[in-house]
Amino acid sequence: MKIGILGGGQLARMLALAGYPLGLQCVVLDPSADACAAQVADLIQADYNDQAALHELAEQVDVVTFEFENIPAQSLNYLLENYPVYPPPIALHTAQDRLNEKNLFRQLQIPVPEFVAIDRFEQLQQAIVRTGLPAVLKTRSMGYDGKGQIVLRHQNEMTQAWRQLGGRPLIIESLVGFDREVSIIAVRNRAGDIYYYPLSENTHYRGILHYAQSCPDDHLQARAQDYIKCILDELNYVGVLALELFDVNGELLANEIAPRVHNSGHWTIEGAEVSQFENHLRAILDLPLGDTQAVGFSAMVNFIGTMPETAIVLGDANVHLHDYSKAPRPGRKIGHATVRSETQMELSDALKNLITRASIVKQ
Ligand code: AMP
Repeated sequence: MKIGILGGGQLARMLALAGYPLGLQCVVLDPSADACAAQVADLIQADYNDQAALHELAEQVDVVTFEFENIPAQSLNYLLENYPVYPPPIALHTAQDRLNEKNLFRQLQIPVPEFVAIDRFEQLQQAIVRTGLPAVLKTRSMGYDGKGQIVLRHQNEMTQAWRQLGGRPLIIESLVGFDREVSIIAVRNRAGDIYYYPLSENTHYRGILHYAQSCPDDHLQARAQDYIKCILDELNYVGVLALELFDVNGELLANEIAPRVHNSGHWTIEGAEVSQFENHLRAILDLPLGDTQAVGFSAMVNFIGTMPETAIVLGDANVHLHDYSKAPRPGRKIGHATVRSETQMELSDALKNLITRASIVKQ
């Protein structure tokens, strides 16, 4: 069977690699000639709104999916009229706008940080009465990895923030003093069965995920599962979905969803019975889902901007390296490594060692 993927970055690459053992082949559509998934999948090099290219992709595959969130709505609608597309485009539409996302959480009674939609400067003054300060002003769409957002700590910072972000639809949220950031990843098939991965605890640096650790048996697992189940069922979702949450004194507040395989789930390749990538393919192809249980304790470290020396990263026998073969560029995710251990204590040491070794970059 063949799968068409909109977007040819590392997520598509790892989907294609997960498909190989099952005899599945992927075709990716990406505007860039050097899309890193093209090394392991066929590439159609075209813009996301190129209807002829979308047609060419969809005609040669059994199902279309996406790894990139900013696909134009009209492209998805075009595909949907004629071909099977999973996850459902409504999920993408929701995730593309932070206001839609927050409204969905509220509708489903999933707690969220206080928020207000902002279209005009005068609304900001009013809004902070509700959100309080500090607060974070964000663009409603096209933001990722902490881009398009500014933390406001004092009233006199509003004019400057508006100058930077104003003119686009915005949202302001209370800045939450969280104990940790976690995500839950789940997969739902066409029959509505849902399998959940253990929570992942995520540490960011400058708005980008730095490392993520699996948390088997976390005390908030059941709550997170309840929340993501509500979302999956509401959207009649098929495929892998990630829900990012703030843990504030044991209460979970929803931050955002990603209607695709997610960076905080990369550890599932070696740290779960069946990875998020394989399970996404299984779900969208209507194949039986695979076991999501953790195998030991795992942590994943992202390589951002530069790749560390291969031999040094592999210096611990429990480490698995993933080099996406992308050109190094500041702020760009170009690889990751996962370390797996038998106990949480061993994992903490192994993770510290890995982070130290990963900081030794190729010359
Ligand atoms: P986002 O693009 O919304 O995922 O935000 C990127 C990162 O900014 C998050 O992973 C958090 O570390 C931080 N952040 C975003 N929104 C908030 C918030 N309301 N309160 C506290 N931290 C936040």
